[in-house]
Amino acid sequence: MSKKVKTPSRLSQMARSVPEMIAFKRDGGALEATELEALIQGFVTGEVADYQMTALAMAIFFRGMTAEETAALTLAMRDSGDVLDLSNIPGFKVDKHSTGGVGDKVSICLAPMVTACGLRVPMISGRGLGHTGGTLDKLEAIPGFKVDTTTKRFIRQIEKIGCALIGQTADLAPADRRLYALRDVSATVESIPLITASILSKKLAEGIDALVLDVKVGEGAFMKTEKQARELAESIVRVGRHAGKKVSALLTRMDAPLGHAVGNAVESAEAFAVLSGGGPDDLVECTFALGAEMLRLAGVAKSEAAARKMLAKVIEDGSAARKMQEVVKAQGGDPRVVLEPDRLPSAPHAVIIPSPSSGYVKSINAREIGLTAVHLGAGRTRADQEVDPAVGILLDKKPGDEVSQGERLARILVRNRAAARAVTGRILEAYTITQRRTAPLPLVIDTIRR
Ligand code: URA
Repeated sequence: MSKKVKTPSRLSQMARSVPEMIAFKRDGGALEATELEALIQGFVTGEVADYQMTALAMAIFFRGMTAEETAALTLAMRDSGDVLDLSNIPGFKVDKHSTGGVGDKVSICLAPMVTACGLRVPMISGRGLGHTGGTLDKLEAIPGFKVDTTTKRFIRQIEKIGCALIGQTADLAPADRRLYALRDVSATVESIPLITASILSKKLAEGIDALVLDVKVGEGAFMKTEKQARELAESIVRVGRHAGKKVSALLTRMDAPLGHAVGNAVESAEAFAVLSGGGPDDLVECTFALGAEMLRLAGVAKSEAAARKMLAKVIEDGSAARKMQEVVKAQGGDPRVVLEPDRLPSAPHAVIIPSPSSGYVKSINAREIGLTAVHLGAGRTRADQEVDPAVGILLDKKPGDEVSQGERLARILVRNRAAARAVTGRILEAYTITQRRTAPLPLVIDTIRR
């Protein structure tokens, strides 16, 4: 691990003051790399106040940033804390990051699969945000599982078993953690340069050789249109490569939730099902597509077909499930949950929603389902809230499925039936049932490599 040496404040050496830099950005100017470095350093030390940083974020939100500014902001945020050096650990280190979706439990099955294929996966994940779920909340549904650790223990785990699934430590990219908290409450999340810098600053500090990004597109994603998602993917790939890493991005659809389960314990259980050779088709496809790209970037598979074969093999021979058991055990959890998901917390009631009509499911509004799951207690509406690991929604019917009137459409997993009654109408409204079957569109829209 190399600790970045903190240099004395650079703000005083800048030609423009902080208010002048904010005004310059507000009026459409492009800040110098040295100015962005000074601003980020000043933000972390407290010389730049939260209100000034929020004003700058809003100026960036409206004015955007040049490619050079985005790269400089990303590197300044990366260097705001420790930058791990994992070069002493043999093997290729690769991570995956999703821009956030509903039912997205891919990391929980993907990380052990890719590790079982011989790569190292130092994965730092996040918590639920808005209507989207978070990998850390899902992992914490495993009894005893700890996502908080020290940098030293994180490195030791990567060395020993090849994979760790943790939360951001206090020392990694602290500027992102603080700026993210400000953006979350100041309507400045959906900005391509700010998202690029936020995601990449953490990932570049992790000591990885390569990163595969899952840019979600659609109703349940932060990027609603393919154009915006493509722009974000290109921005991240460009800046990641500029920082010397191998980076690709897949654009994947997030109109309907991924898989059948939305919640914490139920999503972990669904990810474990993939490790045992089951799991819903869309989740399996998303996991294999991202995993194949990780293996391709590492150079251990010559083609996508060869990579998919490697991933199928580690499921078949049980090594991916065993790897997940090792990870769970190393992080204090009960490893039996991987093959016996019934050991995960479960809600006392599973209230059935029957279909109001016969036909075919055309769509399920992922955002509405995500918000409903949050309302049930699976996510937060305030940063200091605890999530309930047991509650959630099971979408028995997915887009493309035929359904008869009265047949089970979905189930609501709740602590008391009144909670289910309150959200039944909302879940029904998220479903569109039509008389003609519309085949779901392919999950992966494109892969951006440059
Ligand atoms: N995920 C992040 O880590 N940062 C963002 O800005 C958006 C999604």
